[in-house]
Amino acid sequence: MAFEGLTQRLQNAFNGLKRKGKVSESDVRDAMREIRLALLEADVNFDVVKEFVKTVRERAVGTEVLNSLTPAQQIVKIVHDELVKVMGDAAVPLNKSPHIPTVIMMVGLQGAGKTTTAGKLAKRLVDQEKARPLMIAADIYRPAAVDQLVTIGQQLDVPVFEMGTDHDPVEIVKQGLAQAAENKNDYVIIDTAGRLEIDEQLMQELSNIKALAQPNEILLVVDSMTGQVATQVAEGFNQQLDITGVVLTKLDGDTRGGAALSIRTVTGKPIKFVGQGEKLDALDVFYPDRMADRILGMGDMMTLIEKAQTDYDQEQAENMARKIQENDFDFNDFVDQMSQIQNMGPLDEIMKMIPGMANNPALKNVKMDPKDIDHIKAIVYSMTPKERRDPDLLNPSRRRRIAAGSGRSVQEVNRMIKQFKQSRDMMTKMSKGNMNGMENMFGS
Ligand code: GDP
Repeated sequence: MAFEGLTQRLQNAFNGLKRKGKVSESDVRDAMREIRLALLEADVNFDVVKEFVKTVRERAVGTEVLNSLTPAQQIVKIVHDELVKVMGDAAVPLNKSPHIPTVIMMVGLQGAGKTTTAGKLAKRLVDQEKARPLMIAADIYRPAAVDQLVTIGQQLDVPVFEMGTDHDPVEIVKQGLAQAAENKNDYVIIDTAGRLEIDEQLMQELSNIKALAQPNEILLVVDSMTGQVATQVAEGFNQQLDITGVVLTKLDGDTRGGAALSIRTVTGKPIKFVGQGEKLDALDVFYPDRMADRILGMGDMMTLIEKAQTDYDQEQAENMARKIQENDFDFNDFVDQMSQIQNMGPLDEIMKMIPGMANNPALKNVKMDPKDIDHIKAIVYSMTPKERRDPDLLNPSRRRRIAAGSGRSVQEVNRMIKQFKQSRDMMTKMSKGNMNGMENMFGS
């Protein structure tokens, strides 16, 4: 799970502070030592760590923090603020050209996810702007890169310009741009060649493409799993090509966090997107504040809500909220909600975005199985309409009948009913503004 070690260690540092009633300067020093180690272990660039710890310490030992009623919380907030700051404060949108086409050049080392990200970006532009992009296959060296882009293009119904692997990449780009002009494509996404490491020849080729295509955006794709190496790669590409933004891929893996926290400060260039999976819809805008939430184990509620909103219509949401408030939430709603969640994406990914869940040890090895939801549905569908409205009717004999009807065990039926009651109780409490459960967010 991404940032796992970092989140855990930061929480340990905060818990140390929370255990003290009054926090002294030396407590802050101890906590800072832990935070420093946590960041270094997460493979954050050394200079970034030094500066980060210095700033947090200076702000934390201010008298208004230490004399406040909640010094530990204040320090968490300072760490949060500074995490946001090192990652660039606000999200930075794609650069656009005032006239068509906007040209986006994808660069990066082999295996970073360049070709996949080119496809993800095309999909995003089509979905969000009804754009008509053209992708150009100019990676003629990696075996199958051209075919890979063509296949992605077919999946997305986005045209791909290619000339096989026997032409000069600059020539391919030139002809691709001519085709885009002819077809009035509004975006051109150029997939360029990568190497296993930065070399002179590659940089020369990329510079030539840049000179010809005059891209509005040069997006460097880096693999977040490679930590400091990703940061160095970013620095190298930036020096040679003056990139305009970074895409950080594989944030769905167990990346330690170093790249996300270092790249902005080291290169001065914003991370614009993050890749969070192999599928073509797994590209999200990089929001520094949400990423800080995630690093601190506070979940990523905003992304979750946005995901939900795309599939969930407002009326349905309001209806559900009203039912919860009036304690009128029944099994029908439960199944409805499950179906909504099922539509949102892989369950274990979704769970991690819920505050307090991201670092819940109970979830560590959980692979949520979509089949579980189907089982729950089967159980609910084996209830009579009356039972669905009123869980209190469900005595042992009814439960046995439901188990037989749904092909699940009685234990499973019992577990599901218990789960339903728990979530109903929790939702009712939360809707009444009782956020007690949330206070444990930092495991204190
Ligand atoms: P390229 O050599 O830079 O063009 O890399 P590819 O686009 O071929 O990607 C290399 C591998 O990384 C492929 O198996 C992709 O499916 C995978 N990949 C790319 N982005 C992501 C991501 O965000 N998450 C995960 N898990 N895999 C990714």
